[in-house]
Amino acid sequence: MKLATINNRTHLITAAGGVDIAHASGGRFSADMKALLTQLVDLQAWAEEADIALDPGLAEARLLEDLSPLDAPISNPDQVFAIGLNYRAHSEETGLDVPAEPMVFTKFASSIGKPGADIVLPTLTCDWEVELVAVIGKGGRNISEADALNHIAGYCVGQDISERTLQFANTPAQFSFAKSYPNFAPIGPWITTPDEVSVGQLKIGCRHQAATLQDGNTAQMIFSVAKLVSYLSKVCELRTGDLIFTGTPDGVGMGCKPPKYIEPGWVIEAEIEGLGRISNRFEVGS
Ligand code: ZN
Repeated sequence: MKLATINNRTHLITAAGGVDIAHASGGRFSADMKALLTQLVDLQAWAEEADIALDPGLAEARLLEDLSPLDAPISNPDQVFAIGLNYRAHSEETGLDVPAEPMVFTKFASSIGKPGADIVLPTLTCDWEVELVAVIGKGGRNISEADALNHIAGYCVGQDISERTLQFANTPAQFSFAKSYPNFAPIGPWITTPDEVSVGQLKIGCRHQAATLQDGNTAQMIFSVAKLVSYLSKVCELRTGDLIFTGTPDGVGMGCKPPKYIEPGWVIEAEIEGLGRISNRFEVGS
């Protein structure tokens, strides 16, 4: 299933377009994405019984052409985790050490943006980082690696937009703050349930017009999604709707020689196989 948020209400993306779940189910299911994320089995059974065509086909293609009706699938997570340097080649291009343990920071929730968000550049040293974002369904503490994927409600595409001057203004670097300007965490276009993708084997990349910026595969992750869920839950209680930005492959601007950053007027499309794409235009601040 593909679950999108439109006008603050959760919609199932079907052959007919977006179906308002609360409305179509006569109130049996909530309009709230977080509430639905723990009821996916019931939701799927209801959709099959109601004979809702779950293969989105053309409707999906139409929505991807015009992302403007779509809100961020989750805009109010309790926690947003992000993982630094989780792809070896990216770790090497930054000149930082390959981590022995997951490198955890946050993107503050106020930085979440819609899949088609316009993003104001606070400086001319902002960088792109396409990432697979895992969405927590059932929360918990001390989740084992073997059980971890049972706690995932789905996946979406995200950008971990990063302002490099502020990030590296001090030693040690500060990741969370420099990656949390408005709309620096666009996510979407919707949440795809795990049964529809092989999460350890997805093409992931982003481009600006004809130029490929990043072109990787989630198979290159150092710490798998299951490992990350288990690792994080040993310190923090994971809660329904929490997001995990799982790290970016190589090809970011700061790794180019000389470094390259996002220019005003650029539109960056970020795409992950089976999850769709998001598209963000960058503007100068006034
Ligand atoms: Zn990142």
